[in-house]
Amino acid sequence: MFKQNNINELKEYLQKPKKIVVTSHKNPDGDALGSSLAWTKILTKLGHSVDYISPNGMPEYYSWLPLNKQMIIYEKSKDYAKNLVYSADIVFSLDYNALDRMDEFGEVVKASKAVKIMIDHHLFPEDYPTLTYSDTSKSSTGEMIFEMILAMGEEDKIDADIATLLYTAILTDTGSFAFKCTTQRVHEIVGVLVSKGADPDTVQNQVYNCFTESRLRFFGFCIMNKMHIIPNTNVAYIAVSEKELREFDIQDGETEGLANYPLKIANVQACAFFREKDKQIRISFRSKGDFDVNILAREHFNGGGHKNASGGMMRDSLENTVKKFENLFLQNG
Ligand code: 5GP
Ligand code: MN
Repeated sequence: MFKQNNINELKEYLQKPKKIVVTSHKNPDGDALGSSLAWTKILTKLGHSVDYISPNGMPEYYSWLPLNKQMIIYEKSKDYAKNLVYSADIVFSLDYNALDRMDEFGEVVKASKAVKIMIDHHLFPEDYPTLTYSDTSKSSTGEMIFEMILAMGEEDKIDADIATLLYTAILTDTGSFAFKCTTQRVHEIVGVLVSKGADPDTVQNQVYNCFTESRLRFFGFCIMNKMHIIPNTNVAYIAVSEKELREFDIQDGETEGLANYPLKIANVQACAFFREKDKQIRISFRSKGDFDVNILAREHFNGGGHKNASGGMMRDSLENTVKKFENLFLQNG
């Protein structure tokens, strides 16, 4: 996948031991965590001094991930994280392509004099990095990291931890090998990862079958009471307030997966999940086939992502945000 002359440039930067910081986006998902922790371990094995810094912490249900304790949380250790970034030779941007995906920590990365290298699969990358590896045809950043390790001739450094991390990244970003991005190559790669120690059954259970009771009841409540289909359209949404999230004791990250449910209805082609937090509304968009929610997120909700899965953010009330969404479809018939 990577042309040799492209990889040579990266190899050049990594020729001598360097001080490296790996970063990923706020509210890290399986791909952000899996690819970043795997890349951190590979670079460490190659003799570099590496720290992984995330803007905020990971959901509890990812606390089983190999090497997760190594993650430095910017929100909790700002000065320490800033020092690391400002003294780094290289800062990697993994699984995001716009600095605002990192909130305040993005400003720190922007201000750093380090060589910046992006490895990412989202549409429309910003041009702040020194070196950009962007491939929107790839299922996940985890898939790109795997190809990168191969192109660097370092496949033998993939141990069971790294295999598990990359497997988790690919599993979660392909919707358990279901989305269109799940190519023949993806299956080949996960085959290699299994041969190197990733255990599909364990990862599946850790990621998807580890709900708290209240989380599952909250999903049921949302589907039963909060899901609306906009009349005369094939668009659905679920909107939940901060109060409702509190009532079910839903922690950050525990709404992951809920956004996909309305698509289970045969003629629903697109849906949105709105959640209120700290006077902001976070939105997840999902769609099937040709319905492009990336454009929708980008043009109307300060966001972006992929054609069939995007996100956005509004500084407005839940009510106004939902109204805005509904009006887009009511107007267009
Ligand atoms: P999720 O709904 O799971 O948070 O995100 C779905 C997809 O959209 C992910 O690929 C994520 O990286 C992307 N995404 C989520 N929120 C934003 C956002 O605010 N801006 C952009 N550009 N992409 C986002
Ligand atoms: Mn990803």
